[in-house]
Amino acid sequence: MNIDTNNTNNECSICLNIIDGHKIDCIRCNNKNCLECFNKMDKKIKYIDKNVVLEYKCPQCQLEVSIDIFDTNNIIKYDLNKFIKDYIIELNNGLIQSNISNNILNSRLMELQFIFRNFYNIIKMVYIFDKVLLLGITTIIFIAYKN
Ligand SMILES: [Zn+2]
Ligand SMILES: [Zn+2]
Repeated sequence: MNIDTNNTNNECSICLNIIDGHKIDCIRCNNKNCLECFNKMDKKIKYIDKNVVLEYKCPQCQLEVSIDIFDTNNIIKYDLNKFIKDYIIELNNGLIQSNISNNILNSRLMELQFIFRNFYNIIKMVYIFDKVLLLGITTIIFIAYKN
């Protein structure tokens, strides 16, 4: 009758090792994973309401779990140091990449801006001229009527 629930409770569902230390458990299906397996799982960084969260799917029930990565408790619990470091390196590499393509885009944007600015100036000139003309006409009419 003495069932050792402790052992089965701490078994990682992926590597089947007994988890010692931090345990990643699912709030819905009670699935448990060790940190090592958690580190191998696919994760996504998302920006939700100006918060940066890490999303991963429970390997058993596919529940999407969001973790606040700026919460020190979470950094310790999920051992996020390595993940954040890798992510920043990846982001940095990606940033360099996007900067290169941005430069091409920027010159095109500058070109468009130049056209647009000139176009705006023309419109402004037309508008001012129109106003001046209208003011001139009303003044003439006003003077003509007055006399
Ligand atoms: Zn494991
Ligand atoms: Zn689950």
